[in-house]
Amino acid sequence: MAAEIVATAGVPVTLLERMPSVGRKLLVAGRGGLNLTHSEPLEALLDRYGAARERLEPAIRAFPPDDLRAWCAGLGEEPFVGSSGRVFPASFRATPLLRAWLRRLDDLGVVIRTRAEWDGRSDGVTILALGGASWPRTGSNGEWTSLLDVAMSPLRASNAGVLVAWSDVFRERFDGAVLKDVRVRCGSVESRGDVVVTATGLEGGPVYALSGALRDSPTPAIELDVRPSVDDVRIDRRPKDSLANAVRRAGLPPVVAGLLRETSATDPKSIRIPVDGLRPIERAISTAGGVRLDEVDDTFMLRRRPGTFVAGEMLDWDAPTGGYLLQATFSTAVAAARGALAHLE
Ligand SMILES: Cc1cc2nc3c(=O)[nH]c(=O)nc-3n(C[C@H](O)[C@H](O)[C@H](O)COP(=O)(O)OP(=O)(O)OC[C@H]3O[C@@H](n4cnc5c(N)ncnc54)[C@H](O)[C@@H]3O)c2cc1C
Repeated sequence: MAAEIVATAGVPVTLLERMPSVGRKLLVAGRGGLNLTHSEPLEALLDRYGAARERLEPAIRAFPPDDLRAWCAGLGEEPFVGSSGRVFPASFRATPLLRAWLRRLDDLGVVIRTRAEWDGRSDGVTILALGGASWPRTGSNGEWTSLLDVAMSPLRASNAGVLVAWSDVFRERFDGAVLKDVRVRCGSVESRGDVVVTATGLEGGPVYALSGALRDSPTPAIELDVRPSVDDVRIDRRPKDSLANAVRRAGLPPVVAGLLRETSATDPKSIRIPVDGLRPIERAISTAGGVRLDEVDDTFMLRRRPGTFVAGEMLDWDAPTGGYLLQATFSTAVAAARGALAHLE
């Protein structure tokens, strides 16, 4: 995105990519539909960035979700708003968008050098967008942390599934079961939506949203409410009746009986699931940590390294899934590119 902005202004751009092709993480994100941004009011969207809101706000206001949607449409992928308010490209994939984008960059004269690793040096003006450290096989391996002499917060898994020590019986029976429209909570953070039971724990947007709270908790656990829309759920277990039958009569899916048994809970609105930790960074959707925001000025230029700009996930901000990761990535790239142009002038 930064390359596009700079090249559009008529400045020659060379883009270095350490992998044999560009945009690999975008393609991986496209497998889930490529949730580009969110359609909620801008104020609500800005709040998703928590402590980083103040620093990201000018960049997001300067390149807001509407601009991102217009950009996507301009590449032939008219975006649509899903039922949850999330915004996706028409094809629900990244491939056509990336293909059209690479054609545009080629038309603009951007020179793309693949298998070309940035080694820490900067000639002229440099914009770094080297990503976090999740899904390293897409190329974002976080090794740039050893190349930059700036203050950083350690890279940590974010938006990651959680590990739960299920019993063998539960794991075999319920791997893949979906808990529809449930509420999960850790401390003061709560989230609602669909959660998937896996052999190793739990996955899904609501669980990812608890990543930070679980990471910081000395005794990490998820409080699960399987029926957040009602005040009370009665499990009416009759004599000689199985728990599974009683749960079924209450209109709940079999996995709820499994969870009650697994945790010895009695109230399906309050099931406490102890968590062993987050899934490793290699399988996280994103990483928290990176170049601290006080290391860059308002144009995302490194204060200690004039002429070098930083954008995207390598900066120290975090957000839940819902399109917020790509929105801030695009917005900071636009801001860094505009800053680089001003610096060149
Ligand atoms: C499975 C999955 C699903 C996702 N789904 C969504 C979603 O639906 N919506 C959303 O908003 N976000 C999603 N994300 C997150 C989103 O993809 C990232 O936040 C975003 O791609 C970050 O963009 P970036 O440009 O900062 O870094 P990246 O996209 O990681 O790109 C960094 C690039 O830099 C290259 N690189 C690294 N080091 C060097 C070096 N030294 N020299 C040269 N090149 C280097 C890498 O190879 C890589 O191509 C998803 C992520 C994953 C893993």
